[in-house]
Amino acid sequence: MKINMIFRNFLLLILMLMTVNCSVEETTPKAVLVIHGGAGWIKRGSVSDSLEHELSETLKASLIKGRAVIAAGGSSLDAVQEAIKHLEDSPLFNAGKGSVFTYNETNEMDSAIMDGATGNAGAATGIQTIKNPIEVARAVLDNSVHVFLSGAGAEEFALEQGLTQVNPDYFFTQKNYEKLLEAKKSTKEIKQDKLGTVGAVALDVRGNLAAGTSTGGMTNQRYGRIGDVPVIGAGTYAENGVCGISATGHGEYFIRYVVAHDIAARIKYAHQHIQQAANDVIAALKDKDGLGGVIGLDAEGHVVMPFNTPGMFRGYISLDGEPVVAMYAD
Ligand code: ASP
Repeated sequence: MKINMIFRNFLLLILMLMTVNCSVEETTPKAVLVIHGGAGWIKRGSVSDSLEHELSETLKASLIKGRAVIAAGGSSLDAVQEAIKHLEDSPLFNAGKGSVFTYNETNEMDSAIMDGATGNAGAATGIQTIKNPIEVARAVLDNSVHVFLSGAGAEEFALEQGLTQVNPDYFFTQKNYEKLLEAKKSTKEIKQDKLGTVGAVALDVRGNLAAGTSTGGMTNQRYGRIGDVPVIGAGTYAENGVCGISATGHGEYFIRYVVAHDIAARIKYAHQHIQQAANDVIAALKDKDGLGGVIGLDAEGHVVMPFNTPGMFRGYISLDGEPVVAMYAD
């Protein structure tokens, strides 16, 4: 009798868990590419209609460019690079052209890209004169025996690889300069209104996952500070059969809690659905005062985009659908 009860309860529990998993499975959209343009204090009404339009058009164009690579049979790595490059060329996001300033009024950019098929990765930090930092990361992945290059060494390598160099003035934007002056006046060490980093995760027709991230860091950061973006497993991670993740937020927390890899580990070892894994990690991060979000795809292309800030610029696209973009939490 007692054994029957235990058995019945056990079956009920299994049934409940299956139902939860099925509903998560059914409600999670699928895509071949997901991108972000940073998380932060992005609230309805705080962005003008024209800026909102410009932001959403730039995100859509990035999605369409990245998807074109995959539709033509290209690799997820190429799609990630293409999507990120488009966002780096825009002054609207905190990466490449729109990178924010350090306390010393310099722009120091970080980037990373990871190939889920091979586990190979490339990362760069302290980039000051290369137009597209994501290309430095990609060149490290493809043409170097190393994973992570910094500062002058990274720039020299980028030039050897034939990447485009620009005058540091190219990265000057009035809005970011004013943001720095404002942050210097603030009593807070780092002002985090809109973080604005960019990232992409793609799944190609061969089932290969890739993830990449690019950033100007945080306004008013010390020169030499490195965030989570180029730290593999913190801000960027991809593993075939598991997931690809790109993060945005207060980098110190993403490094300390190894956010991207924590999500992957929950999927891989605890067999969690990516939606649950990503939601739980981002919610737990908030409890520890870590603000930000992630985007990700699992091996079947399920999309996740959780964040614990008021908003996050984000979007995804399937092989044949329209791009879907969003900014606010509601
Ligand atoms: N995670 C980036 C950093 O800490 C900032 C951001 O996401 O906007 O450098």
